[in-house]
Amino acid sequence: MKFCPKCGSYMKPKGEFMVCIKCGYKEKGVEKIIYTEKKNHDRDVTVVADGKTVKGSIALNLCPRCGNAVVIKIGKKYKCKSCGYIFS
Ligand SMILES: [Zn+2]
Ligand SMILES: [Zn+2]
Repeated sequence: MKFCPKCGSYMKPKGEFMVCIKCGYKEKGVEKIIYTEKKNHDRDVTVVADGKTVKGSIALNLCPRCGNAVVIKIGKKYKCKSCGYIFS
């Protein structure tokens, strides 16, 4: 939660800004920036598979166990981001 530096009221996110509900003070939101950074960062991930730390990347493939579509590609195998199930 963020508070207005001018009047101390609660600020709510509006687009990419944080806007004060009382005085209308606008501030560029930080949440979106964090989200973007995280998204870029996410494409290359380090995961632990079979006790080894390996580099993987985010891919789209349906997990046969839980049906989640976002998986981590490690070599020729995939690791489900949701349940951790490894399949190829
Ligand atoms: Zn304010
Ligand atoms: Zn899964």
